[in-house]
Amino acid sequence: MKIYNTLSRQKEEFVPLEEGKVSMYVCGPTVYNLIHIGNARPMIVFDTARRYMEHKGYAVNYVSNFTDVDDKIIRKANEEGVDPSVISERYIAECRKDMQALNVKPATVHPKATEEIGGMIDMIRSLIDKGHAYTAQDGTVYFKTRSFKPYGKLSHKNLDDLRSGGRSLLVSGEEQKQDPLDFVLWKPKKEGEPYWESPWCEGRPGWHIECSVMSRKYLGEEIDIHAGGEDLIFPHHENEIAQSEAANGKEFAKYWMHNGFLNIDNKKMSKSEGNFFTVRDIGEKYDLQVLRFFMLSAHYRSPLNFSAELMEAASNGLDRIVTSVTNLNFLLKNAQDREMTEEEKKLIEEAKEYIVKFDEAMDDDFNTADAISAIFELVKFVNTSVSGDSASVFLHAMKDEIVLLSDICGLIVDKKEEILDTQIEELIQERQEARKARNFARADEIRDTLAAQGIILEDTREGVKWKRA
Ligand code: AMP
Ligand code: ZN
Repeated sequence: MKIYNTLSRQKEEFVPLEEGKVSMYVCGPTVYNLIHIGNARPMIVFDTARRYMEHKGYAVNYVSNFTDVDDKIIRKANEEGVDPSVISERYIAECRKDMQALNVKPATVHPKATEEIGGMIDMIRSLIDKGHAYTAQDGTVYFKTRSFKPYGKLSHKNLDDLRSGGRSLLVSGEEQKQDPLDFVLWKPKKEGEPYWESPWCEGRPGWHIECSVMSRKYLGEEIDIHAGGEDLIFPHHENEIAQSEAANGKEFAKYWMHNGFLNIDNKKMSKSEGNFFTVRDIGEKYDLQVLRFFMLSAHYRSPLNFSAELMEAASNGLDRIVTSVTNLNFLLKNAQDREMTEEEKKLIEEAKEYIVKFDEAMDDDFNTADAISAIFELVKFVNTSVSGDSASVFLHAMKDEIVLLSDICGLIVDKKEEILDTQIEELIQERQEARKARNFARADEIRDTLAAQGIILEDTREGVKWKRA
């Protein structure tokens, strides 16, 4: 399996630190609002990478943080007159709902910055002890960027060419810094801000230190893969490398993966530009599986322009797969319970060609666009290979292949048949009649059948009422 590594700017063969295991850290969202579909891109593409590695047999330890202390969270809390934790907890809960709706698996751990302050203080202290950080008069602690010689190795920037920039550098007065390139590790509290005790001042951590600390705590000093959107390469990831490698004396992450932007009219979708759709907005118009399919129809490193036409194309594409599986389910209802014919066995062998194609695409830096093409080819092959005379085992085998490959992409294509309201009413009617006839076994059976479909019955004085769970 090859992964494009931002460090070397090349595709490299993936060799894990420990055989059979992958440690992976993905920078998560700052929780002050509903996530937009740009934020959903790294969630979807790295979840797909994780699913593929799990499919290949790796045990993946996947960590993704919630940044729950930040200027924007504090501003929103002040606007609403509530504690910042009220804002962050609210949007963490909403983000989890969106992730579930997008079929993004929960991380092994989702650490929150505010629960890891002690670890951040420890790392900052050791950076000061090792001469990589210093305290300014007001208690701000800065990382001494020039003390870390390889600085710039990820973003391929030269230390001398670098101009100060990035989120953390804007927070405190530049004049206190020994060098404009230095960045904040800890900063003093301001009026109305949450703060923690520290050896330097009452205050809060800079943004970059949280990922260095959480990654070390949950995955160790050296990890296999660190990932996030390409806007994080500089300064966030460059600063994470400087902090972690200066503190631990070891290479922080072997492979750095970055997703391209989700754009609108060729401009990055972002909250500050106001050109965004939340996942919720899109969920009102489309099944969110369509959004997932749309994201995977491009390579994760390419920019991707969001448009109604492309969503329409994604919807049609996904439908082709779902329809094929629905058709297989239909055929399976009356299929013959017999051994496979020689012809059917041959077709099963031929279908493997598409699975090989799928794997080759995914092994090539998670090329989901080509992997989805392989699913389409498989679907076409299956559609022309099955009929009302097919053996049940044959149909099952074909269906399993389509469902397996779709599942690696996190696409749910085996739609359980939805029970219609009219069918429910009919079953309830039948249950009433069974009860009248004192056929309680049948009445209970109907209740159980409905319960299995998530339908809850309630016997009231006005008659039987029902609702979907
Ligand atoms: P933030 O909450 O801004 O820190 O972003 C959380 C994650 O979403 C980071 O990995 C960002 O790089 C990523 N991200 C934000 N906007 C976009 C976008 N328009 N396209 C792709 N990724 C994005
Ligand atoms: Zn991070």
